[in-house]
Amino acid sequence: MIELETIDGIGPKTKELLNKIKIYDRSDLLNYYPYRYDIIKRSDISNLNDGDKIIIDGIIEGQPTVIFINKSLKKMIFRINNRTNILNVTIYNRNYLYQDLKSGKEVTIIGKYNKLKNAVIASDIRFGMLPPGAKIEPIYYVTEGLTVKQISKFISSALEEDYQVEDLVPRFLVEKYNLMDKKTAIKNIHVPEDILLLKKARQRIKYEELFMYVLKVNYLKQKMSDDSTAIERNLDKDKLDKFIKGLPFELTLDQDKAVNDIINDLSIKKRMNRLLEGDVGSGKTIVALIAIYANYLSKYQSALMAPTEILANQHYEDAKKIFAKYKLNMALLTSSTSNKDKKEIYKGLEDGSIDLVIGTQSLIQDAVKYKKLGLVITDEQHRFGVNQRDTLKSKGLSPDVLTMTATPIPRTYALTIYGDTAISEIKSKPSGRKEVITVFKKNKEITSVLEMMKQELDLNHQIYVVAPMIETDDNDDKESVKDLEEKMNKAFGKISKIGIIHGKLDPKEKDKVMRNFENNKINILISTTVIEVGVNVPTASMIVIFNANMFGLSTLHQLRGRVGRSDIQSYCILVAENPEEKLRLMEKTNNGFEISEYDFQTRGEGDLFGTRQSGELGLKMANIKKDFKMLLKAKEDADLFINMLLTFETNPEFEPILNELKKIDNLD
Ligand code: ADP
Ligand code: MG
Repeated sequence: MIELETIDGIGPKTKELLNKIKIYDRSDLLNYYPYRYDIIKRSDISNLNDGDKIIIDGIIEGQPTVIFINKSLKKMIFRINNRTNILNVTIYNRNYLYQDLKSGKEVTIIGKYNKLKNAVIASDIRFGMLPPGAKIEPIYYVTEGLTVKQISKFISSALEEDYQVEDLVPRFLVEKYNLMDKKTAIKNIHVPEDILLLKKARQRIKYEELFMYVLKVNYLKQKMSDDSTAIERNLDKDKLDKFIKGLPFELTLDQDKAVNDIINDLSIKKRMNRLLEGDVGSGKTIVALIAIYANYLSKYQSALMAPTEILANQHYEDAKKIFAKYKLNMALLTSSTSNKDKKEIYKGLEDGSIDLVIGTQSLIQDAVKYKKLGLVITDEQHRFGVNQRDTLKSKGLSPDVLTMTATPIPRTYALTIYGDTAISEIKSKPSGRKEVITVFKKNKEITSVLEMMKQELDLNHQIYVVAPMIETDDNDDKESVKDLEEKMNKAFGKISKIGIIHGKLDPKEKDKVMRNFENNKINILISTTVIEVGVNVPTASMIVIFNANMFGLSTLHQLRGRVGRSDIQSYCILVAENPEEKLRLMEKTNNGFEISEYDFQTRGEGDLFGTRQSGELGLKMANIKKDFKMLLKAKEDADLFINMLLTFETNPEFEPILNELKKIDNLD
């Protein structure tokens, strides 16, 4: 490790600032890549129009003239010769440059071109001429107190010293792709000689990241299957079958298949790490409950984690119904559980008397000790970090893990990105479901929206009304929960009961409102996106989303998933001033795969593709989506490489790679 202070210009204060952006030593500095580049290229004057931006270099002729226009405005005029042309340059309030702008000096001018006068109003003057081609300036993320210039300077001085870089790509692959040498690549990333070399440099760095990424995913997979602490279960298939037969409905084919996948995982001595993908309303919960029952039969405890308290409550109610006839002992643990109850629950988990605990993320945190935790299920959005499973293990636990998600990942991506994860998909919805009909309405068509709502209320169905925020200023034209409460009361106050729910509400109150809505004691529920995930009220048949453009596509799809959860025809009404493209797409399709694919195309990687995992596994320059083709190549190469490792055992060239892989063990 080479200290930052050995670099010119870095004292204790600057060091602290650099630490803030996670630069701790010289190698961090060299690995701090620009997020984009400014390309400064000489303009071709003959092609410029009046008023165009101009970048031009040349030699100063004669002395500048300074004109004082008033106290705060001073103008300086000088001429430059760019070999084919003599231009007049004007710049305001830069008198301090006067001494430096001597006749014969080489300068680069950036500014606005005045064609008639063959003159430039400069916004920036830099010393020196432009290289042939273009000058490429790296732009770095900075933190307050640091400038891009400073970072560039520190990196440049670090590059001047003798430095080592760890080159991880095996030689045969460097040769295969004719990759740039790593040291040259690092240099060109920060101080690019020209665009072509920069491209090659980026290709080199990205390839190494992706190659290592695939190896790391593979390493994780290996680690899991070699795990001697994994649980092996001898499942009572008859009891399990009986349980499934006793459910209130028959499983769909896909549910049945997912159940089989999971039961198989639970039986064998290998830690399960399975993703259960299924569009909203496809029926993931019951699959989870079956897994929990199987785990209970083999005398292990289960934890079911939900992202919100509302959802935890609802899962608890669902589980109570499903397990009513069985002896499975369960508990609900959330922030509104009283301290006294909490203590009881902790005790029950520690002594093994509680078989299933349902709650929010806190379930796997420190205070909670389990006697025999065998299965952890997380519902929606909460993917485990790379080594959270190890955190559990360090507590003497090696549970199997099932993650449920409604944001599907196209399979080719999933297999490459989550090679350490097995996937079960529920593609079809339970039979009898009707497609949700989605329509866009303009703000001024509110009357027709109210009419549609009235029809559903007359049928005794419930309606969700969603606003992006709880409250707004009076002069804000966006609808808030409070605004809508007023509107809905005006329109339906006489015939319907209206409730509101949002994040700021007391958890007990939230629970009460939710239950009244479920029982149709509240007919219209006005809320923020707190109802986004998971909430299941099968008799709700309409969701009206105001200011719909303000929500992301995946949120809209999740919100829409609150309806259409039984055989009742359901509706989703999107209200906005003018529809953005995403609203039109919502009208066109109910298919979660299509929607996430579109989202992926337009927004890039996003959360969908586990930014957390790609960060943890070292993707800094490469991007899973944008560089997917390269990722596929890297995967082929990595697979070949793994085979070589198995055949040749040790080769000193591969040491650094293996060391890098072992670093994963220390992530959390
Ligand atoms: P999600 O996949 O969005 O979590 P849920 O598990 O909440 O969906 O299921 C949505 C609704 O469908 C629930 O009311 C559930 O009871 C019902 N359901 C699930 N599976 C079936 C099935 N096989 N047949 C009929 N209804 C089902
Ligand atoms: Mg769900």
